Order: sequence, then structure tokens, then C-alpha cells
Amino acid sequence: MSLELTRNFSIIAHIDHGKTTLSDRLLEFTQTISEREKQDQLLDAMDLERERGITIKSHPVSMYYPAKDGKTYQLNLLDTPGHVDFSYEVSRSLAACEGALLIVDAAQGVEAQTLANLHLANEQELTIIPVINKIDLPSADLPKVHKQLEDIVCIPAEEAIPASAKNGIGIEDILEAIVERIPAPVQPEDNKLRASVFDSVYDNFRGVVSYVRVISGSMRRGTKIKFFHTPNNYEIKEVGVFTPAMTKRDELVAGDVGYVIANMKSASDVKIGDTMTESSNPCSDPLPGFKEIQPMVFAGIYPVDTSDFEALKAAVAKLQINDAAFSFMAESSAALGFGFRCGFLGLLHMEIIQERLRREFNMDIISTYPSVIYEVSLTNGEEIIVDNPCMLPDSQAIQEIREPMVRVYIMTPGDYIGDLMKLVMDKRGEMENTETIDDLRVMLTCNLPLSEILVDFNDRLKSMTRGYGSMDYEHNGYRAAKMVKMDMLIAGEPVDAFATIVHRDKAESYGRKLATRLKEVIPQQLFVVAIQAAIGGKIIARESISAMRKNVTAKCYGGDISRKRKLLEKQKKGKAKMKAIGKVNIPQDAFIRVLKND
Ligand code: GDP
Repeated sequence: MSLELTRNFSIIAHIDHGKTTLSDRLLEFTQTISEREKQDQLLDAMDLERERGITIKSHPVSMYYPAKDGKTYQLNLLDTPGHVDFSYEVSRSLAACEGALLIVDAAQGVEAQTLANLHLANEQELTIIPVINKIDLPSADLPKVHKQLEDIVCIPAEEAIPASAKNGIGIEDILEAIVERIPAPVQPEDNKLRASVFDSVYDNFRGVVSYVRVISGSMRRGTKIKFFHTPNNYEIKEVGVFTPAMTKRDELVAGDVGYVIANMKSASDVKIGDTMTESSNPCSDPLPGFKEIQPMVFAGIYPVDTSDFEALKAAVAKLQINDAAFSFMAESSAALGFGFRCGFLGLLHMEIIQERLRREFNMDIISTYPSVIYEVSLTNGEEIIVDNPCMLPDSQAIQEIREPMVRVYIMTPGDYIGDLMKLVMDKRGEMENTETIDDLRVMLTCNLPLSEILVDFNDRLKSMTRGYGSMDYEHNGYRAAKMVKMDMLIAGEPVDAFATIVHRDKAESYGRKLATRLKEVIPQQLFVVAIQAAIGGKIIARESISAMRKNVTAKCYGGDISRKRKLLEKQKKGKAKMKAIGKVNIPQDAFIRVLKND
């Protein structure tokens, strides 16, 4: 298919606005799939994705459309993940397109997520085709959505295509608009192989499958290839396209979107955003836009039962083979034993990995409090990066600590603005902008530290707005902040599992909270046990547990000696599961209870 007859596009939508339904309609209209073949939610595959209603992996598909101008076009739809944790993947998929459909629900209007993704599309200078979906709904309000498009998104209302994915209205108009408005891809003149890798998946049987868009040149089975950001050469075993099932082809040429299977063993052999070229006749420069994927959130993952360490090691190694964005390094903690320091793209990515460890590998794990990455300038001029509170040098050695910031978009009914502003302040954030969307809703833009939205921000937003608020965020650089390392001491000994990096102004209240919680879970000992929160050498919060001999047999009056013995045995066993911190014995599950409580 010639380049003039090729269109590459993507779909941007807020969750539930109808992306999946519309994609299915486009596939049906172009007879890429028949009604019979169609399964519900064709493009969303993984169970976890379906449960959470998000797409994590993009699944491209090629369709052929005989347009009204009499020519048949190849339309390549590159689906994008729907969550900010995966915004780099989104940006790479968008970079492989010339245009995007922007779907807006006719009743709901523009939402927070729509805007964050639209910004990514604008960065790539894509042609945007607005589609107002669900016009069949009685609550559809076209004039309102038109106004929102003009006011918020700056798109002329007459460009919008009214549609109902459910009833098949507007589908042909959308296909015509893709052909007419989105430009054909342009090919560089030298005809050397250049293919941009916008995603990759790992298949247990075939190894790494790279999803590519061919910008120039061609490739087939036997072509020797290499990349710009990984060192090895590979030989192609198979190429093909998505129809939407993977379908083998003899070759992929400029303009094609398809897959490449070569002799690659691990997801880390190919980096998303890298350029694939021919080993013997390479192009001189990579395509623009490559970024090394940086984990943003770190946490320790430990087996609850220390004897499961080897099994956990095998499990995390296996997960990394098919998820290059997940990283791990062995670490040990005096409190939790041997485990791994793991890096994730964000909280959702972290939850997915933990969930997979539990479900697919049957691992019983405990994870430490998540931490972000800090940039630290030392007084000796060195610059370091700290992802584990235990690794933060002494405060005398530190000149400045910078923390990662995010720009958060919050869409909310106007009634809750006051509460939300308070929440943002409470989380050390500032408001940047407040914009009225319509007579009911307001869009707040604010700047917040990433660490403050990690744990409960979204939950609090949802409960504050009775479920009507929605949010999305994008990374927004680093900013200097008064961060300090806070240690928790039990009977004078620092316990590494509870060390955290906190803002100086919040240290006291957090220290008190943690001390109180520890007091609740640590059993009484033969002596008084002090629980202290400290910054440097200075104690900022303190609790103590009074001394007592725990007599487990006290409740067994007289006789029943066998029951008494059983209880004593049980107490002995309990002891075996204790961790000795200095001279204090702490039951293993006390750590789990404190860490899980947040
Ligand atoms: P996604 O999350 O953006 O992929 O949205 P889905 O395609 O899964 O659609 C979300 C819900 O909206 C589903 O229950 C669809 O049946 C429904 N839906 C999608 N398009 C339309 C439409 O044009 N009209 C109506 N009434 N419902 C629609």
C-alpha cells in the first residue's frame, strides 16, 4: 500500500466515553472483524485491565477502508494505555501517528483525563478530530459540549463529528474525516530502514514481540537488525500485521504498522521509543523522542515467610522479562529479612506488579511504604539520587534535596471547590488555575509533590466529591523542599523498615502517628520500651510501652494441664517468629500490620 493511502491514528478518550465501543464499530464497518467474530471489549485483553477498566498494553490494528473518493485506504489504529503511569508509552504511540480522534461523551462533557492526553497529542502536533459520542442519550447536550471544546480545548465546534458508537451513527463520517483530515505519513529520502518501536510484549513461546511503525525502508524474515539504545544485533524471524490478530506477512514496508519477532530473550532487549534499523546499512540518526523509562516510585517487597525468598526472586525475575519498566535489586532489612527494592512507573503499576505476584505466583508478600526519587546535592558538590530513605546521607552532608512534582487536573462539581483547595494546601500544593467548565463543573489545575498524591489523594478526592470528582496528572519536574529523614527507634535502635523521608513541617505529626501505631502492635516486654521518632539525633515524638510479664496461662484456672501446655507451646512458637530489635522482640506480623495500615 502506498504511503499516500496510509493513515495512522490513535484514540484519546476519558474512561467510559466509548473508546472500546467505537473501535469495535470501526473494525466492523471496515469488515476487519465480522459481527460473529466480535467479542465484547475486543481491544482490552488482560484480566486485570478489564477489572480496572483500563488499557495497559496498546493493541494496534490495521483496517482497509474504501473511501468515497474511490480509493482504498489502510487505516492503522494505535491504541494507547489509559493511565498516566504509562504516559511515556502513550507519547510513543502518539508519536507514531499523524492524527487522533478525541472522543467526548455528549452527556458528560470534557473530563480531566481527556485533557492530559490531549496535551500529549498536541506535543506531537497531531491533527485532532473531535468526536462527540453517545448522542443517542436523552441527556446528551451538544451545544454544551461544543462550547467546552471551544473554551477548554480550543477546537472549533464545527469540526466535531456527532456519533453514537452504540447505534452505529456517524461511523462513516469518522472514517471519511480520518482520510480527509489526517495527513499521510512522509518518508525520508534515503530509503534506509527506520522503524519506531512504540510498544513490546513478551510471549512465553516466541519471546519479545516488538510493535513497530515503519518510517522508511523495509524488512523481512532474515533481515539483520539493531537498535540505537541497546547494543546487540538480531535476526528477524517473522514480521506481520494486526488484523487484529497477529497475521504473518512477507515484509513490512514504509507506512506499515506491524510486529517484528527476532531472537530477543528479554523485554529489556528492546526499549520502547527506540529506532530499529538494518545492521549492514543503518540510518545515521535515531528518530526523535526516545527517553530511558525512569521508575518514579520505589518500595521494598519482602516475603512474609522468609523461607520464600528464593521463590520471590524467581517470580520478580520472571515479571521483569515481560515488563521492562519494572526494576528490582536485592536488599535486606534488619526488620523484614531479605527482599527486593523495586522500581515502578507509578502507584498503579506498583499495584499491578504486587497483584500479579499474589495471583500468578501465589506469593505472600509485604511491601514497605512507597517512596519517590529524590535528587540530592551534597555539600562536597556531588549529585546523587535517593530512592530508599535508608540511603539518604547525614543532614550535614546535604546541601539541597529536590522532590518530584506533578501537575494535577481535577474536574469537580463547583460545590466542592473549597474542600478541594484545602486538600491541595494540606498536601503542600498550590492552585495554578480555576476554570469554569459549565454551570455545574469546575476544572482545577494545581501543582503538587508526587509523594503527597501517592497514597490517598485520589480516595480523598472521590469521597469529598461523592464520587463526582475526577483527576489526572502529568510529571512536572523537580523542586527543592525541606525534606528530612525520619527514623523510628525502638528501645533506642533504629528500625530500617520504618525510616521515611518526610517534609520537615509534617515530621512531628507523622512521627506521632507512627509511634502510636507501633505502640498498639508491639507486645509488652519485661521492661519499659521507648518508641521514638527522630530526625538526626533529635527526638520529635515519643511513646512508651509499660513493662509486664505476659502470662498466657493466667486464664486457665486449675486443672487442665494439657491446655496449659498447649498454650505454652504456642507461646514458644510465637517467639520463633519474633524479630529481635536490640533486646526487644517484635512479632513479624507487627511490621506487616503497621505497613499495611496506611
Ligand atoms: P471506554 O472505557 O472508553 O472504552 O468505553 P466503552 O466503549 O467501554 O463504553 C462505556 C459504556 O458506554 C459502555 O457501557 C457502552 O455500552 C456505553 N456506550 C458506548 N458508546 C455509546 C453510545 O454511543 N451511546 C450510549 N448510549 N452508550 C454508549
